[in-house]
Amino acid sequence: MRERFDVIIVGLGPVGAVLAGLLGQAGLTVLAMERSHEVYPLPRAAHFDHEIMRVFQRLGIASEALAHSRPAGAYEFRNAGGELLMSARRGGEHGISGWAQSYMFNQPGIERALRARLAAMPRITVRLGLAFQSLEQHGDHVVVMAKDDGGAIERFEARYLVGCDGAWSPVREALNIGLEDYRFDEPWLVVDTIPRSSANLPVVNLQICDPARPTTCVLMGPGRHRWEFMLLPDESADAVLAPGFVEALLAGWDVDVEVERKAVYRFHGLIAERWRDGRALIAGDAAHQMPPFAGQGMCSGIRDAANLAWKLEAVLCHGADAAMLDTYQAERDRSVRDYIELAIGMGRVVCTLDPTVAAQRDAEMMARRDTDASLPAVGGPGRDGALFAPGDAAAGSIFPQFVAADGARFDDALDARAWLIDGVGGVSSGDLRRIAIDDPVLAPFRDDLAAWLAGMDGQAVLVRPDRYIFGIGAAADLHACWRAAAGTAAVGTAGQGAVG
Ligand SMILES: Cc1cc2nc3c(=O)[nH]c(=O)nc-3n(C[C@H](O)[C@H](O)[C@H](O)COP(=O)(O)OP(=O)(O)OC[C@H]3O[C@@H](n4cnc5c(N)ncnc54)[C@H](O)[C@@H]3O)c2cc1C
Repeated sequence: MRERFDVIIVGLGPVGAVLAGLLGQAGLTVLAMERSHEVYPLPRAAHFDHEIMRVFQRLGIASEALAHSRPAGAYEFRNAGGELLMSARRGGEHGISGWAQSYMFNQPGIERALRARLAAMPRITVRLGLAFQSLEQHGDHVVVMAKDDGGAIERFEARYLVGCDGAWSPVREALNIGLEDYRFDEPWLVVDTIPRSSANLPVVNLQICDPARPTTCVLMGPGRHRWEFMLLPDESADAVLAPGFVEALLAGWDVDVEVERKAVYRFHGLIAERWRDGRALIAGDAAHQMPPFAGQGMCSGIRDAANLAWKLEAVLCHGADAAMLDTYQAERDRSVRDYIELAIGMGRVVCTLDPTVAAQRDAEMMARRDTDASLPAVGGPGRDGALFAPGDAAAGSIFPQFVAADGARFDDALDARAWLIDGVGGVSSGDLRRIAIDDPVLAPFRDDLAAWLAGMDGQAVLVRPDRYIFGIGAAADLHACWRAAAGTAAVGTAGQGAVG
């Protein structure tokens, strides 16, 4: 007998897991299929930002995420002689999202926490050891064929399919979607370690711009530290992974660490030409890849999931037109390109092997040295074809999460719908909660909220479910604009939209 779901997700990396969790919270039935049984074992993401922590909060895993992470400190670029070329701040107790600006973390720990969360959601079916094979699109559903560990082929149906199946994405291949290549391609050895002693361990994140061996050294979650070493032109992956090679490189740091895992990657910048094909979409590394210098690959994928989840819910549960799904790439593509370009720009600074070019770079950076820089504020959503109130300068920026004196956070006071907050409130619907500023539930945040709204010169704010500002202005105008843009019914059908 065939099985039917609202959404099939292929791939249970961090992006697939976050998407599954958000769709499950919306009451949708989800099949998340993953060909492996364990989370990815090799070193990958070490940094995530405040927006991602807010998503973890929404999924109910903030405390688990904190247990596997620590706030990120400064990010320093130094030359071969150890002189400071640039130092960027990444700290800050409360960023705009109500969490620290940035965290360093251990990816497998958080992936396991995400999977544990999914296991507690009754509408989510997780199938490990099940590999996507092919898909067929029909008028109102997709058919997916998948192979289990024993080689048996199973058939599933769903209203939508999302490929969160990583860099080699079989879903992207099946949809015949090409990749745009930013022509950055540098091989690096990545080494995660477990320190036996904290002696000599750097307390900040470092890019050592040494043309003899460009090197990255960053914190991770508690009890771990990472080094990344660029391969030199005559070195092979096999050679640098051979016993003793890493240990020899680490000897130069005079630290007492145990190597936990290591891998060689080619750092590159790629972006998919199309992120949607009818009822099939792609997200995360399946849609884009970037060098890790800005620590934004997974963050971008999780932003994809947060952007797509509420739009799938709007289409499946609240009567929105499927065309709303086209706003997903329209908004996310610009953000991802910003981060790819930022990461490649940083990479070009770091990955310089020519000593003359490096000396010139060092001199230029020292001449305009900024010891307290902010990393460029890039990565906001694109505006062409996007789902924001037109002509509103604040639309598309992050709605701040206020934190009360007792530590309570604003998002936890409300629910997962869009919010229209103004002086009087109004009748809520399936996709939109209308709430007055003086509603008791907002009492701990009222002063901050009122001051913020006054500062924005608006009577009301409409906040999308991904916590980007839809618009600021008069409540009636925002409401009408939301209905027109989202195309959702004024009276929501809070149920779920399972097929047939
Ligand atoms: C060295 C390094 C450092 C990085 N540092 C950072 C950082 O600091 N911050 C950051 O934000 N990002 C960082 N990244 C990027 C980040 O790790 C990735 O962007 C992120 O893991 C991608 O998540 P994903 O869920 O899209 O894909 P993946 O984690 O690759 O998950 C895809 C899943 O799909 C499964 N799959 C594939 N094919 C099939 C199939 N046919 N059927 C079923 N399942 C399938 C795979 O088994 C896999 O589990 C780094 C990457 C590297 C390599």
